[in-house]
Amino acid sequence: MCAIFGVYNHAEAGTEAYLGLCAQQHRGQESAGIVSCNNGVFHAEKGMGHVADIFSKRKLAKLLGTAAVGHTRYATAGETALKNAQPLTVDCNKGVLALAHNGNLTNAHEIRSRLEASGSIFQTTSDTEVILHLIAHSRESDLTAAISEALNQVEGAYSLILLSGNRLYAIRDPRGFRPLAHGVMPDGAHVVASETCAFDLIGARYENDVRPGTMLIAALDSDGAGGVKEERFAEALPPAACIFEHVYFSRPDSLVFGRPVYRSREALGRLLAREAPAAAEIVVPVPDSGTAAAIGYSAESKLPFKWGLIRSHYAGRTFIEPEQSIRDFGVKLKLNPVREILEGRSVVLVDDSIVRGTTSKKIVRMVREAGAREVHVRISCPPTISPCYYGVDTPTRDELIAANLSVDAIREFIGADSLQYLSLDGLHAAVEDSPTSRFCSACYTGEYPTNLVQESQIGRCRG
Ligand code: 5GP
Ligand code: SF4
Ligand code: MG
Repeated sequence: MCAIFGVYNHAEAGTEAYLGLCAQQHRGQESAGIVSCNNGVFHAEKGMGHVADIFSKRKLAKLLGTAAVGHTRYATAGETALKNAQPLTVDCNKGVLALAHNGNLTNAHEIRSRLEASGSIFQTTSDTEVILHLIAHSRESDLTAAISEALNQVEGAYSLILLSGNRLYAIRDPRGFRPLAHGVMPDGAHVVASETCAFDLIGARYENDVRPGTMLIAALDSDGAGGVKEERFAEALPPAACIFEHVYFSRPDSLVFGRPVYRSREALGRLLAREAPAAAEIVVPVPDSGTAAAIGYSAESKLPFKWGLIRSHYAGRTFIEPEQSIRDFGVKLKLNPVREILEGRSVVLVDDSIVRGTTSKKIVRMVREAGAREVHVRISCPPTISPCYYGVDTPTRDELIAANLSVDAIREFIGADSLQYLSLDGLHAAVEDSPTSRFCSACYTGEYPTNLVQESQIGRCRG
């Protein structure tokens, strides 16, 4: 997964991009980058790790200009390396272009092989780079037309922000897998971001989502005022907004696909309580991802909500572990049980998902060791049975526990007294989906909205 952010016609574009990325840090912690443009001159700063660690005051001061694009990366395709950090910048026959991408192209491998066979040289192992090559290869001289031509050759999920010397493009694929919201700042500057929590931090007002199959183009008028226009590059296809954004990925304080994430999360918990009640005394969330659903579960079941697990927000990413290794060290750094609450109690433990099952197993063990009498695990979405090819880093089918084991076998593996998941109908109801569905839920159904290239081809190098 990744976050993207763009700003056009703002005196401190680089700093606004930095703040926009800070607010969206949860979407990717591997690397981050910002490219700004000052009267056609580009500046780029990138690094590995967290946004606030990468961008010092000194680095931000170099990001001059009135337009900027930023990205935080959570590797889904291509290896973990600075060369894959975005935005990717090229100087080609269409000028200098800086591109930030959230999503994953399902035919990048084929296009790349074709381009390499005809002599193209790739600088990264990321799927995003094929878009830049296709733009450069286009015979269209107009940049907008070249972008359209390139996008009509790629398939899969892409929310893009592309900065050229005098324009900023915000683009969503024709199915609208990944979010991309448009906002306006008090001084009239246009901003785009994966999630609206970025707008809240910088004081921008949410206008609308970039519509699937279209691009918003921000440019300066001849009088210097900034305006945007919308251009359609492809017919919209049946919508496939990622439902997992509402289950887990997005921040609960964001609007995603125009809908408050918090509302979805709480509804997921309420419906879960109706479908899967538990004879227990308290409801305990697995923080942070399970918290809003646990609030909903508690409200609906009338069982009290208790902070039985406390999350440390200060654990860094590299730890010095004692040589004599401590059991469940990684999980313990993040979560600690509250014996005062758990001891002797029968507990409903609410979390958003079980992926491999290894973390859940450790958490159940931790809750038991703190004295819980019974542990009833409730998951606020259906079993994750299929990998995502659209930009979420789910593991391969072999590693997805629900692709291989029954619910009861998973219950046994994680060591719970009972385990229940929300139904697929419950999931769609929680996001108030339309009868024809505007969401993708392929990781729960195995029914993908696009033609897929062979799984073996995508393997671990999907982008
Ligand atoms: P597991 O028991 O499968 O090892 O871990 C479950 C935990 O992983 C849950 O608390 C859930 O919030 C978290 N999780 C769910 N989806 C993802 C994901 O796509 N990536 C990561 N890193 N964690 C996830
Ligand atoms: Fe989202 Fe799952 Fe569809 Fe991927 S497969 S886009 S995670 S709903
Ligand atoms: Mg979690």
